[in-house]
Amino acid sequence: MTDVLMNDFARQWAEVGEDVLKATRRVGASGWYILGQEVQLFEQELASFCGCAAAVGCASGLDAIEIALRALGLAPGQNVLTTPLSAFATTLAITRAGGVPVFVDVDETGGIDLDLAEQAFEADPDLRYFVPVHLYGNPFNLDRLSELKARFGLRIVEDCAQAIGASWRDKPVGSVGDLAALSFYPTKNLGAMGDGGAVLGSEMTLLARCRQLRDYGQSAKYQHELLGLNSRLDELQAAILRDAFLPRLDRWTKRRREIANLYRQALPGLVLPLSSLAHSVAHLFPIKLANRAVQMERLRALGIQTAIHYPSLIPDQPALADYRRSVIGELQQARRLASEELSLPLHPYLTDNEVGRVIESIQACVASSYR
Ligand SMILES: *Cc1c(COP(=O)(O)O)cnc(C)c1O
Repeated sequence: MTDVLMNDFARQWAEVGEDVLKATRRVGASGWYILGQEVQLFEQELASFCGCAAAVGCASGLDAIEIALRALGLAPGQNVLTTPLSAFATTLAITRAGGVPVFVDVDETGGIDLDLAEQAFEADPDLRYFVPVHLYGNPFNLDRLSELKARFGLRIVEDCAQAIGASWRDKPVGSVGDLAALSFYPTKNLGAMGDGGAVLGSEMTLLARCRQLRDYGQSAKYQHELLGLNSRLDELQAAILRDAFLPRLDRWTKRRREIANLYRQALPGLVLPLSSLAHSVAHLFPIKLANRAVQMERLRALGIQTAIHYPSLIPDQPALADYRRSVIGELQQARRLASEELSLPLHPYLTDNEVGRVIESIQACVASSYR
């Protein structure tokens, strides 16, 4: 029996390979590799998929968050509220933009606790930037976010790197923040064949600033209005995303949701809670498991790959040891998840048989630990 993998790029290539090669030939023959028609066409289709006015392709999800924060006018030394439980890139983008990260705890879903966020905004009038994360593909409460934004006059960048296509009731992720960030890192729901990212938004002046920032801050060739970055999405990646990946995303997401539902039904008691208003895109399937290290090893022996998102909290990372930042409270919930969370295999190419093997293996591991 072959192992059940967290991601299966060999099976993906078998499906998309021909379309990727066609896109590659087209870009090659065009002789135009940076910021041309392919990026523009992909940005248009991406924006319409995400239900926003426009998208700005850039080099990574990390850059998308930094560019968005800078476009919103974040000045060095300003506070930015965010979550301690995410990819390190969420906070790294804040520090690269010169911001001071402020961490509050998550709730039992793993997403940032909006009650605690509200208290933080109330307590500190200098805290007006916010980078919340739709973690695991699960959208947090966007109605609530919208209220907080209006009440406190917040400037928000939604980190949607794990949640493309998700929605809270009828609100798509990325639609409440001033801007939102996507990543096309290969393991994401919409992954490129390399690095890539995008900023999403609806306000044209902000998006124009993002376009300048990704290209040396230029408003026109050799006219530098801002101190920008080199963070351009390649024509090649844009063509591949548009031809081979984006047209399949709805079907892939549907399959991800089916698998997540099978896990959810078979493993009650282990799953994290999820609101019925949250239309998840099932990027990851986290469960809570006591004795995680041992169980992970047992699962590996049974041929089941698993992963951890995330084993330690961002404010505990050595890179931040000497950096200005603040932590509100004890981050108890985030710490519990950091020590107990385990992500099960979840990708569109899992067969029902493989999903069954994962479920049986987890059940066997849990049962044996109570003997
Ligand atoms: C992947 C990810 C990022 C960073 O994206 P890159 O394209 O790898 O730079 C940021 N935030 C979250 C929540 C992510 O999952």
